[in-house]
Amino acid sequence: MQYRSMPNSGEQLSALGFGCMRLPTRVGGQVSSLIDKDAALRQITLAIDGGVNYLDTAATYHLGASETFLGKYVLSDGYRDKVNIATKLPCMAVRKKEAIREAFRKQLEKLRVDVIDYYLLHSLDGGLWDRMVSFEVMDFMDSIRASGEIRKMGFSFHGRKDDFVRIADAYDWDFVQVQFNMVDEQFQAGIEGIRHAHGKGMGVIVMEPLRGGSLVGKIPAEVQKIYDTAEIKRSPVDWALRWILNHPEVTLVLSGMNQDEHIRQNLQIVSDALPGGMSAREQQIVARVRDAYDQLLQVRCTACAYCMPCPAGIDIPAALKNLNNYHMFSRWGARIGHAMHLGVQTQDGRPHWTTDCTDCGKCEEKCPQNVPVRSVFKQVQKDLEGPLVKAIAAGGRAALNRGEKREEGDS
Ligand code: SF4
Ligand code: SF4
Repeated sequence: MQYRSMPNSGEQLSALGFGCMRLPTRVGGQVSSLIDKDAALRQITLAIDGGVNYLDTAATYHLGASETFLGKYVLSDGYRDKVNIATKLPCMAVRKKEAIREAFRKQLEKLRVDVIDYYLLHSLDGGLWDRMVSFEVMDFMDSIRASGEIRKMGFSFHGRKDDFVRIADAYDWDFVQVQFNMVDEQFQAGIEGIRHAHGKGMGVIVMEPLRGGSLVGKIPAEVQKIYDTAEIKRSPVDWALRWILNHPEVTLVLSGMNQDEHIRQNLQIVSDALPGGMSAREQQIVARVRDAYDQLLQVRCTACAYCMPCPAGIDIPAALKNLNNYHMFSRWGARIGHAMHLGVQTQDGRPHWTTDCTDCGKCEEKCPQNVPVRSVFKQVQKDLEGPLVKAIAAGGRAALNRGEKREEGDS
């Protein structure tokens, strides 16, 4: 494992951190509280035994079950001394000053710890920061630092660059957590924000290194052609992580790994992805890949699922992913995927199309990427939700029902 120093304290953090937002679940993906205990525990211990010493969670991940899981199965089982635990105050849910202390108390209780190593104000933008300041959050941060209940104070950010600088300058932070990847070099805080924070002596934790998986897995032919011109052949995940860690300002990159193979692969990549380790030619390749994705991506959704659950039952991240797939890969492949995701494999077995949207706007209020979900849905309806797609879904549901009835008859 490669370790990097926190600028002010010299504390050594593994260059790879384990993100606990996308733990394996029994049903329902990352909006589910039903964490697959055996798989999640096996994967987290695999990472820690491989040298990872930073676990990142939040009050909201897996509807609150992520913190409980870590407290019950990981931190209480001999691993507390081997890892730093990072969690986040759910600022979006805070409506009055008193709620801050109460939320923090619950987090200590769920994690079963007396001290949180790295504590963050969650998902700030300019407006949310101003609201938290009005609740005297700086006094609260001073107090939990002074009492030793937290060791390092930081904030995670999804907003405009000027607000990032304003917030970074407003308090004596130890670290920041920002979205940064080969496509989002200039997005939100961007590289300038990262340099600003680093210049002030803050650690820089990177989230969404793979844009919710959209930079890996199935790669558009246009992008693959660019990778193929490289002298050293690397996987897309290798390119993505190596490019981030090429920046000396970056302390640690978080990855939401939920397959054993992802963990082994990432441990290996990170071990020699040193600052300044990428040649100028390799950086040019990444710049061309960025341009290609800029042309291809219709919507900048990272599949974080903060917008869920939707009161109309719509699987918003799936709908937006299908739209990107439509423009990057096969049109009919994306339509069939859409028929399955929104028309067949739903939580209640009934179809929930984007046309069911009631226009409540709740998703857009919660989206850290400012995706204009409702207007993007108009494009989804045009490209993906025709009568034939709905007929395919109806056929899929009928086949599923027949199969279930047969199984009942057999048993
Ligand atoms: S605006 Fe539509 S998609 Fe968004 S939460 Fe409301 S019903 Fe769901
Ligand atoms: S629409 Fe926004 S909140 Fe919802 S999954 Fe995409 S990026 Fe996350």
